[in-house]
Amino acid sequence: MNKRNNHKELNLDELQNETLVVHADDWVTNDRTLAPAIYYSATFRADNAAEFAEMAGTPRHPQYYTRYGNPVHERVKKVMAELEGTETALVTGSGMGAIATTILALVSAGDHVIAQTRHYMSTAKIMDEMLPRFGVEVTLVEQADVSAFAEAIRPNTKLIMLESPANPTMVITDIAAVVELARPRGIIVVADNTFASPINQRPHDLGVDVVVHSATKYLGGHHDLTAGVICTSEELAERIWHTHISIGSVLSPMDAWLLLRGLRTLPIRVERINANALALAKFLEEQPQIERVYYPGLASHPQHELAKRQMRGFGGMIAFAIKGGYEKTQRFVSALKLSLNAVSLGGVDSLVVHTAAMWEGVMNEEQMRTAGIPSNFVRFSVGIEHIDDLKADILQALQVV
Ligand SMILES: *Cc1c(COP(=O)(O)O)cnc(C)c1O
Repeated sequence: MNKRNNHKELNLDELQNETLVVHADDWVTNDRTLAPAIYYSATFRADNAAEFAEMAGTPRHPQYYTRYGNPVHERVKKVMAELEGTETALVTGSGMGAIATTILALVSAGDHVIAQTRHYMSTAKIMDEMLPRFGVEVTLVEQADVSAFAEAIRPNTKLIMLESPANPTMVITDIAAVVELARPRGIIVVADNTFASPINQRPHDLGVDVVVHSATKYLGGHHDLTAGVICTSEELAERIWHTHISIGSVLSPMDAWLLLRGLRTLPIRVERINANALALAKFLEEQPQIERVYYPGLASHPQHELAKRQMRGFGGMIAFAIKGGYEKTQRFVSALKLSLNAVSLGGVDSLVVHTAAMWEGVMNEEQMRTAGIPSNFVRFSVGIEHIDDLKADILQALQVV
């Protein structure tokens, strides 16, 4: 399984991430291209009717119909399964495609789901609005409190959804502790690993059954593609795939190719981003105009010890509060010259958003309070720029507020 499919029998299990992202998929497509070819074909021919019948009857066939699979998908899947340490992976047209497909594949009417009070906004909508419409009960719990998960478990609990670190204050979930509660009861644990990336955190090593990603973020890494990944066992992948082909969140061959290109540099990008973010978080803590900095790598983060235990690096997402209110925060964000004011995260370029401004269109004031989003919050996605340039830009913008 983990042997490279050629006569040299290179054992991928012995290779480090930096090597895997470059070589894990060398032999997957069984063609002679060195750079991956883009199979821009919606369908694939069979040699004869018997072969067609065999293709049609093989789940996850890589060359039957692109909604079912595509050779470029195969290469991405191989690299991602190696990075997350799972048996296999599936790819989807977006991160939400991965999350919605996974949840809809695994729960039915009458089941109960436990999720966190803080999730990526569209995941929260699945929990708040979509699942109840289909007769699935959902309990939202405070993610920092393991006992809240324990108390929420019922006989019909089917799935627990985790996301760590989570917006907006980089709160951490004790993944291993939740798995310990779920395992003996046969509850499936799903974790959104987008913020950490597999370089900084491997939820499957902690016992998580399904690891989902918005590959639009760190995995792609250049703000040019939209994609999702589901990393899991062969057994669950096959179950999820049957729902996947009905939901139809298909990754285009071009975006799959771009994702593969992005993955080649994931470990070195994340290494730089980790270093930049830690330096920037410490720098921000020293600025008199800043009320508070939220970053799991800081000793001041309330769950720093847990973060050190379950993460290998602390990632590139920093939240901080500007002293003063909404207007001051708007002025600060507008004054930044280098860091661009845009949603999304995880790319080579630093992005900044005024958190309250991002969510006021979809949440009322009370929902924002419940979600813990004060009016003076800034979310910073640290890129790979030189740290001195990032610091200088922030310093000049702080003079303006
Ligand atoms: C962006 C994001 C998603 C959704 O991914 P898309 O690719 O935009 O569909 C899900 N979870 C997290 C944590 C994200 O940041």
